[in-house]
Amino acid sequence: MAPHAVTAGSFIELSTSALKRNIIYLKKRIGPHSRFVSVIKGNAYGHGIEDYLPLAERCGVRSFAVSDAAEAERACRVRQSGTELMIMNMIDTADLAWALEQEISWYVFDFDRLQASVDAARAAGKRASIHIELETGFNRTGFVPDDLDRVIDICRDNEQYLDLAGVCTHFAGAESIANYFRIQEQRTVFARMSGQFKAAGLHPRAYHAASSAAALTYPETTHDLVRFGIAQYGFWPSIETRVQNMMNGETRFFKDPLTQVLTWKSRVIACQQVRTGEHVGYGTSYLAQQPTTVAVIPVGYYHGYSRNLSNLGHVLIRGHKAPVIGMVNMNIITVDITGIPAAAVGDEVVIIGKQGRHRITVSSFSDLANYVNYEMLIRLPYEIPRKIVP
Ligand SMILES: *Cc1c(COP(=O)(O)O)cnc(C)c1O
Repeated sequence: MAPHAVTAGSFIELSTSALKRNIIYLKKRIGPHSRFVSVIKGNAYGHGIEDYLPLAERCGVRSFAVSDAAEAERACRVRQSGTELMIMNMIDTADLAWALEQEISWYVFDFDRLQASVDAARAAGKRASIHIELETGFNRTGFVPDDLDRVIDICRDNEQYLDLAGVCTHFAGAESIANYFRIQEQRTVFARMSGQFKAAGLHPRAYHAASSAAALTYPETTHDLVRFGIAQYGFWPSIETRVQNMMNGETRFFKDPLTQVLTWKSRVIACQQVRTGEHVGYGTSYLAQQPTTVAVIPVGYYHGYSRNLSNLGHVLIRGHKAPVIGMVNMNIITVDITGIPAAAVGDEVVIIGKQGRHRITVSSFSDLANYVNYEMLIRLPYEIPRKIVP
């Protein structure tokens, strides 16, 4: 007998057409001379590495960036041969031989890792593809200007072991105009430090600095490749980025060129009539002021649906907004469907995304408008099944 697959309480749909559109748009923005690299750290921003990576490959992406070796391992299991992977942060020296064998490139931001890369390459009889990260003012990781002569010497002396895949840096918050001067300063430092590689006769295959916000706000930062995270998933890095793009005529007010790839769906598992004067759910936080119809949905804070949305959140049922009433439970929310008389057990429920004319945005999950997209997305649990839709 074939193994039976049970139906999950909720699932996350990934839209192929939305992703295609985003990638086409972002590629157009950076032009033909800059390569599109898809950043899939944080479980592909909650979209799920195992489902998202092959989907992005089908949309023409052949280059991905992860934060650490554990994510790279997951990506390796699902990528096609020839698809490139880079590790931007954490890889242990003990894992370098493995990364070499898998043809993964990695960031190098200190002398220990630089030497370890040479050693691993020599032992494997294979050149290590590395990205030299430069400290230009972010003050997190990277070689400082004073290190550079020594870095360049080591790279030159070990050309048979080191393949200079990139020379790169990262900006300290290009999504906020408040950081404008700091970004300009970083660009100046990056240009100066990059110049030293050129002057030394080294030819890194790519200079790169931009993430979504930098690429969309400061086109001069796109260089040879852009590490696109949030924008490919259909979100602007911040409202400021979007407004700036509208003001300089890149996008129009009515038509957002980015489309959200992800929709989180569930369904109604029970309906209840509640009389006036009764409370709904745990405790007394919701009192029915009139005869109320309550729908029960099998999603709760275990699935990342925040308890802060108790008596505050909304879901979509039959194209209407239904408010969450009562407390968010571990595995259940209750919503008021009194205004949607046709609603019934089995109806589709949209928790994040569009249904009919309405949309529940990811940012409506919190009152912190700016950084919330990143954090909320990444909190979507690994266990929720992902479904690819056209
Ligand atoms: C996360 C990350 C990115 C992508 O950033 P977005 O703002 O999501 O586009 C690019 N580069 C580095 C080094 C990162 O850590």
